[in-house]
Amino acid sequence: MSDHDFISGSKPIPLERGEGSSLYSTDGTEYLDAGASYACTPLGHSHPAVVDAVQEQVGKLTFVDSSFPVQSREDAYAALVASTPDGLESAWFCNSGTEANEAALKFARSATGNSKIIAATRSFHGRTMGSLAATWKDKYKKPFEPLAGDVEFVPYGDSEELAEAVDDETAAVILEPIQGEGGINVPSAGYLETAREVTDEAGAALVFDEVQTGMGRTGSMWACQNAGVTPDILTTAKGLGNGLPIGGVVVADWIADGAASHNATFSGGPVVTAAVHATISTLVEEEWPAHAASMGDYLTTELEARLGDEVREVRGEGLLIGIELKRGANRAARDLAINHQVLALPAGRTVLRLLPPLVIDQEEADQLVDALGAVIAPDESDS
Ligand SMILES: *Cc1c(COP(=O)(O)O)cnc(C)c1O
Repeated sequence: MSDHDFISGSKPIPLERGEGSSLYSTDGTEYLDAGASYACTPLGHSHPAVVDAVQEQVGKLTFVDSSFPVQSREDAYAALVASTPDGLESAWFCNSGTEANEAALKFARSATGNSKIIAATRSFHGRTMGSLAATWKDKYKKPFEPLAGDVEFVPYGDSEELAEAVDDETAAVILEPIQGEGGINVPSAGYLETAREVTDEAGAALVFDEVQTGMGRTGSMWACQNAGVTPDILTTAKGLGNGLPIGGVVVADWIADGAASHNATFSGGPVVTAAVHATISTLVEEEWPAHAASMGDYLTTELEARLGDEVREVRGEGLLIGIELKRGANRAARDLAINHQVLALPAGRTVLRLLPPLVIDQEEADQLVDALGAVIAPDESDS
């Protein structure tokens, strides 16, 4: 849309306002946001708890660097660490998902003294040089090579291949508990447990990239809690500040103790951490992860009933849902937006991805199912 931005793809819908799961364009049209701009607004758009916290903080103290203690930062660190499994005891804030993974890989290297990284096929960990090196798709990588070396890829979900790849020269295994960009891929049972066992045996760090799966979306605050597996390093971003730009790394003591010099100027700024504290507090106190679990079950059941034979699969956990289509996902997403005022996201060529705000209600879920039915299984919606 912009004459000055040479990167961003354009969706010709000029948006100006948001509330809950709804977005409104400048001409007043209401859209159901089933993508939450890549899972960035778990509490829905312009949630009052976050808006109030940010407005108060920006007027009081907009920024000081992280060498000064500031209450909003202290509160955000405490809330983030409390939300993660026992064993993850300290955290560090950065500004994005790729920066969180970049830090995770650096911390793993300095804590282990090793450099080898094991990543999975179809992974996505971000677009800075280190995270990109652990990202699968050649389209994102090739034009920028050489990237940070020493990354070996193993097939996602294959416990045997993973066990074989990890040895005493491994610094880290980095995995998404459920892959997002790669197509909403849920690993087979026991895969994350195997990752835990083999990294423990080798003395390597297990990194879970929860940038997309975290913040309550899968029914627990963190997807690793569903599997009962605690990593050594957990990374987050996207929904962490309900739309404000912030990432975080939560680590076990041995990683914190072995972390060499690392920081960022904007780390844990007062305004973005005010957003983090408000977001996590509201998610936890109002039990939105449990709502995500039940709405996710409802949506998945309704989608399977409605779309039936017209799709290859409906998969995911909670409100992280992928619909594997028999045809292109881009076209379906465009049709949904233009003809049904529903905003969804592709994840790869044939997977349509639903990442609605966790606050989506049953009426909105029904609207989503109706729209998807009309686009994907039009014969049935006519009858
Ligand atoms: C989006 C994403 C990233 C990158 O986050 P940015 O904030 O865009 O840098 C990393 N990992 C996963 C799993 C993601 O979904």
